[in-house]
Amino acid sequence: MKGNMQNMDLTIPKLIEHAERYTSDTLIVSRETDNSILKKTTGECLNQSRKIAKLLQSLKVGKGDRVATIAWNNSRHFEIYFGVTGMGGVLHTINPRLFPEQLIYILNHAEDKVVFVDDTFLPLIEGVQDHLEFSPVIILMGPKKEINFDIKNLHFYDEMVEQSEPISDWVEVDEGDAAALCYTSGTTGNPKGVLYSHRSTVLHTWASGNALRFDTTSSVLPVVPMFHVNAWGTPYAALMTGCKLILPGQALDGASLFELISAENPNILMGVPTVWLGLLNYLSEQNLTLEGVDSVMVGGSAAPLAMIKEFNEKHNTFLVHGWGMTEMSPLGTMNLQTKKMKELPNEERYELQTKQGYPLFGVEIKIVDDANNELARDGSAQGALLVRGPWIIESYFKSDSPAVDDEGWFDTGDVAKIFSDGCMQIMDRSKDVIKSGGEWISSIDLENAAVGHPDVEEACVVGVPHPKWDERPILLVICKGDLDKESINEFLGDKVAKWWLPDDIIKVDELPHGATGKLLKVELREQYKEHLME
Ligand code: AMP
Repeated sequence: MKGNMQNMDLTIPKLIEHAERYTSDTLIVSRETDNSILKKTTGECLNQSRKIAKLLQSLKVGKGDRVATIAWNNSRHFEIYFGVTGMGGVLHTINPRLFPEQLIYILNHAEDKVVFVDDTFLPLIEGVQDHLEFSPVIILMGPKKEINFDIKNLHFYDEMVEQSEPISDWVEVDEGDAAALCYTSGTTGNPKGVLYSHRSTVLHTWASGNALRFDTTSSVLPVVPMFHVNAWGTPYAALMTGCKLILPGQALDGASLFELISAENPNILMGVPTVWLGLLNYLSEQNLTLEGVDSVMVGGSAAPLAMIKEFNEKHNTFLVHGWGMTEMSPLGTMNLQTKKMKELPNEERYELQTKQGYPLFGVEIKIVDDANNELARDGSAQGALLVRGPWIIESYFKSDSPAVDDEGWFDTGDVAKIFSDGCMQIMDRSKDVIKSGGEWISSIDLENAAVGHPDVEEACVVGVPHPKWDERPILLVICKGDLDKESINEFLGDKVAKWWLPDDIIKVDELPHGATGKLLKVELREQYKEHLME
């Protein structure tokens, strides 16, 4: 027997209407590209979105057409998010940190009709425009002004939006229609497009808004970029929950973030570990502390124990690990504070906090061996991490083959352990795990142990060929002073198994990072491939 309840399409236009009706006076604070601070209400921003929707229609953008943004986290970007998705267009957020060849590839692949761009990225557009197979309308996100770049088909946001009428009704879409597009930032091959639907976005918003603890009393600083995986869905979750948003623009250094935090008092911060490293260093140099920040949500890479401890002991802030990926909209698991955690002594709790946590309802996870046999959830077996659920990819944009197996499982490319209570811990990317004499060494674990050493600013562990053990780890470090290998080895000695200790420790001036801030280990493996063979 079937239930008797209604079926309502889960769509972003409905989400917008909800926010317009119930939380339109919520504040959106934004650092603009000229560094000024702009404060608007959600209602004012969404009224701009209505004008953008109409403007796009006048530019002949129809349902399913892609509209790109290359922009920081700021109020205009927020307005475009909903102007595009509210009129049936597909919001294609572009990561400006991609290489120019990748940018050309994805603009051509997505066939964007319009590209909204912050002035910081005009040189990027100038550099790639002659390689495009079509000629998109370029809209500079700001007032009309003189510019020093030769950009074709250029218009000015403020002027165009001002002159446009607001759309009277948001466009009706089907919940299965495409809403947003984000390309992966893989280090090999061309980026692949992940095409989110209205339904997957709304379901992810329900789950993430709840897991991130957003409500009308919260004030959120997403340092995670709106140009990559929709800033973990924050703009959507802000509409659904009515939380205040503080958008930091391009000023992501410790001093600027602290200034914004002091002025706007967020209680939730969101970002990758490198950003928090910058903030913590600044706070420690200036002898400052955070006030009123309840939690810092960390994802993108693993947060080291030393960071968890520093946030807790110096700033009374709880670090929540989240894990996910572009193909997962992105949130998959979160490690929120549980009752059990609260009762634990600090050191034991920090240890638990280093893990990536428990799946949100809707996400299923399992680990498998090389023959695809499911492995035990015993905190010891480790294997390829597979996921499935209603906001997880089925196939890549314009690809004919599925990205999942026959049962719908998607291979994340991560290696993980699952503990008996269900808690998941990422051990490594499959391609980064070090296979030494048939056993596995987690480069992440070693790195996170190494950054606990007072002289180590950043650490990167890569496996390099070894004549006897196939592969052995070497540790590359950015140090505060001279390198003291013995002291680092001694420090690591009681944190990892003896056979995990790196075969060499090398001081470097910088480490290569990819478009989403992750260490680019492929390059380093190539560079050091002979290091232990001599
Ligand atoms: P992206 O698709 O660019 O968002 O990258 C996703 C990848 O980032 C995942 O597959 C993981 O390898 C890594 N990642 C994300 N969150 C975490 C985390 N909390 N700890 C460790 N690795 C993470």
